[in-house]
Amino acid sequence: MAHPNKHIREALEYGKLHGWRFEKAGGRAHIYGTIYCRHGHSDCLIFIHSTPRNPEDHARRIRRKVDRCPNPIGA
Ligand SMILES: [Zn+2]
Repeated sequence: MAHPNKHIREALEYGKLHGWRFEKAGGRAHIYGTIYCRHGHSDCLIFIHSTPRNPEDHARRIRRKVDRCPNPIGA
């Protein structure tokens, strides 16, 4: 799970701490992978871009998505 960008790596780590699963994308070059919560909420899913134009903003969106899960796991 080593994304080239530090901000994205931290956001993925944040998701992991909250019980989110990461799935590496196959094939689609601009999509690095997907993270989703383990409850299967249809809205709890976000695509991780390989080279986001604004990595800090993308990382913020990932964290916000994790925070919005109605049944959070962990701290
Ligand atoms: Zn959820």
